[in-house]
Amino acid sequence: MKIHEYQAKELLKAYGMPVPGGILAQSPEKVVEAARTFIGRIGKACVLKAQVHSGGRGKAGGVKLAQSPEEAGRLAKDMLDMKLVTKQTGPEGKIVRKILVTEAVDVAKEYYVSVTGDNENAGLVIVLSADGGTEIEETAKVHPERIEQIPVSAIEGLKSYECVRAAKALGLSGEAAKELPGILRQMVRLYLEKDCSLIEINPLVLTKEGHLLCLDAKINFDDNALFRHPDISVLRDPMEEDPKENEAAKFGLNYIRLDGNIGCLVNGAGLAMATMDMIEHFGARPANFLDVGGSASVEKVTAAFEILLSDSHVEAILVNIFGGIMKCDVIAEGIVEAAKVVELTVPLVVRLEGTHVDEGRRILEASGLPIIQASDMADGVKKAVEAAEKARSLPEGGERA
Ligand code: ADP
Ligand code: MG
Repeated sequence: MKIHEYQAKELLKAYGMPVPGGILAQSPEKVVEAARTFIGRIGKACVLKAQVHSGGRGKAGGVKLAQSPEEAGRLAKDMLDMKLVTKQTGPEGKIVRKILVTEAVDVAKEYYVSVTGDNENAGLVIVLSADGGTEIEETAKVHPERIEQIPVSAIEGLKSYECVRAAKALGLSGEAAKELPGILRQMVRLYLEKDCSLIEINPLVLTKEGHLLCLDAKINFDDNALFRHPDISVLRDPMEEDPKENEAAKFGLNYIRLDGNIGCLVNGAGLAMATMDMIEHFGARPANFLDVGGSASVEKVTAAFEILLSDSHVEAILVNIFGGIMKCDVIAEGIVEAAKVVELTVPLVVRLEGTHVDEGRRILEASGLPIIQASDMADGVKKAVEAAEKARSLPEGGERA
């Protein structure tokens, strides 16, 4: 689960980490009021920050400096309800509904610091870079040597020499070097206590006065552990989540939307991953990850088809089922029943293998539905990719399936 920057900063603050003062506002009037508190009190400008679940807001116009409350009001009018399109949101963007008004900080230098899980050492890893502020993915590609990774034991916690290594990686000295260990220790503590999957501070800044301050914060949580953190669960903002993913969750479907053109309905996460890889191999891209699980009922399959078909990027659907516990005849019946309820507007390719496969294929055959059957997985993927290409080349309103 993701949360907003303002919520992440409240958590950091509760853990004793240095964050600038901020006030959340949802209307231009409230933004003006908030700006007045900062500008009047500290005699400084303030920064308006669009609260959406996405990074890259600065470059997309979601972070603006205001020198006066009036200017803050004008900027807020433009920012609220605007569609913010960042590198991470995709072309559909995200609607800005909340603004964090925060004090403008005199920044001397920006750093990157994050804590995440590390499978290799079965613990955590602290990732640091002296090139903060900009996209870390870009730095990782172009200058991997400028990124330091420090594995940390989840049991023993952060050691002093690891903190020294971190301060060195950022090139810190003086007061700031003394402040860093406390920040890292609290990040690790927060990560473990709240079952996070990522805490990213980008940028962590060195102020002109020589102190460290968390200027941006992103915290993600492990969904499987949310049941033991009611205080974190309440931070969920359904408006920020993909409606298709929320719908899928209602039916117990493990669905994640991606940006490709081949809709996938698969049983088992491993097979679903392999299917996605094979789609890429044959030159197309998966529109989603979807694991219907081991006990797909007709309702589940119908819901899955509805979700896939409501995605306008989907040009063909590929059903890839290996019947182990799940029987192929049951899934075939599910597909036929689902096709009666939802209109199939794109080509449907089905690959069935495993328990009761002959009966499953016979049911599909007898249904009279325009289903393209596949003999094996590669055949299925190839047929789905071809069907999508063919559907795309048809003129608007042409026959599709
Ligand atoms: P995003 O990562 O979504 O682009 P950030 O919060 O990191 O958003 O803001 C982008 C940039 O804007 C930062 O790298 C920093 O240079 C500047 N910035 C953000 N908040 C402030 C602030 N309170 N004072 C001064 N500059 C800021
Ligand atoms: Mg940032």
